[in-house]
Amino acid sequence: MYDYLVVGAGLFGSVFAREMTKAGKKCLVIDKREHIGGNIYTEDIEGIRVHKYGAHIFHTDNKEIWDYINQFAEFNRYTNCVVARYKDELYNLPFNMNTFNKLWGVITPKEAQEKIKEQIKEAGITSPSNLEEQALLLVGRDIYEKLIKGYTQKQWGKSAKELPAFIIKRLPVRFTYDNNYFNDKYQGIPEGGYTAIIEKMLDGCEVRLSENYFSDREKYDNIAKKILFTGMIDEYFDFCYGSLEYRTLRFENEIYDMENFQGNAVVNYTEYDIPYTRIIEHKHFEFGKQKKTIVTKEYPDVWKPGMEPYYPVNDDKNNLLYNKYLKLAEKKENVIFGGRLGMYRYMDMHNIIEEALRCFGKEIKAL
Ligand code: FAD
Ligand code: UDP
Repeated sequence: MYDYLVVGAGLFGSVFAREMTKAGKKCLVIDKREHIGGNIYTEDIEGIRVHKYGAHIFHTDNKEIWDYINQFAEFNRYTNCVVARYKDELYNLPFNMNTFNKLWGVITPKEAQEKIKEQIKEAGITSPSNLEEQALLLVGRDIYEKLIKGYTQKQWGKSAKELPAFIIKRLPVRFTYDNNYFNDKYQGIPEGGYTAIIEKMLDGCEVRLSENYFSDREKYDNIAKKILFTGMIDEYFDFCYGSLEYRTLRFENEIYDMENFQGNAVVNYTEYDIPYTRIIEHKHFEFGKQKKTIVTKEYPDVWKPGMEPYYPVNDDKNNLLYNKYLKLAEKKENVIFGGRLGMYRYMDMHNIIEEALRCFGKEIKAL
């Protein structure tokens, strides 16, 4: 008999299992995949560390979380500076003076602000009710049309008019010549990769891979006093209120016999007609000098059963449905729901660690 069965060896499950094991509890971690790490899994191909489920850059403003993750790895000095390609034009992201200069020829922040003000006035928006209006209000029509509209439609499979405004607010808008994609104080890529971090977290914990909780619920429900479930919350409840919406991604990898394919780790393709949203060149996350290079094209798609659900679609309709599942979850005394899928919430790695530590703290206090 275990104290906790942890369903999912992703970041949430691994932080929780590590803290519980340290606190003297006996944990069993299972994952239906054949590897640990969930979506932050990295694997070595041709001596290059490949982010198998999309580019992962660690960033946080929270010193405690930064110190926490630094117990498991040293981080390099990588700073995410994304290039956006629209047709044959290249722009710097996030939206900053380099972007404004390239687009309009403006040189000073005042000129850029005036240009945006003009475009906001033309659009006639004061209080944004969707992503399109929010984007127009932040950066004006030119940037919206070239860098946001097509990318957003591809990423979410919906027009920007149908999406909540908060999604675009994740991106900084700056009136300085600063191409750093994030505002956070701490940022980097772990030397040795994310898988090594999870290995260290799970050290001393029993882990069984290629085991699906749903293959034998009765067995798993009786194997431990309590369960932490980090899979899809709607699946846990047999989709009894219907299916929540997710976005999936298809990753297409190519190995090239050249040292440098695109000169940057991340290039976003913002036109709608190109079916992928970005191309990742993995070696640039670690300043690699290998003779070959590996690139991944990322194609977003509608999630269907059997596919990996990467992104919850946190619009009003889905959030309402999630709240119904949450009510059922609250009645389950012996099951905790955690992580991006269990909590049906877009969370970066630093948010996940914070939530997992909070969840652990609450559990330990109640014992
Ligand atoms: P997951 O990693 O999904 O782990 C859940 C695990 O549960 C999975 O391994 C799954 O196989 C397992 N599981 C599910 N159901 C079952 C079952 N029935 N039985 C057994 N096992 C099961 N964050 C950042 O901070 N920076 C970034 O740059 C960044 N980039 C991202 C890019 C992409 C494309 C995506 C999709 C996410 C990105 N993130 C990024 C977010 C990051 O991936 C998440 O914060 C983190 O991986 C979530 O961890 P988790 O444990 O909640 O979920
Ligand atoms: N976005 C965009 N163009 C870009 C990059 C981002 O329009 O080149 C929008 C898009 O709606 C996206 C959101 O900004 O979903 C947040 O971007 P972020 O990079 O945080 O996340 P993503 O959803 O791309 O993983």
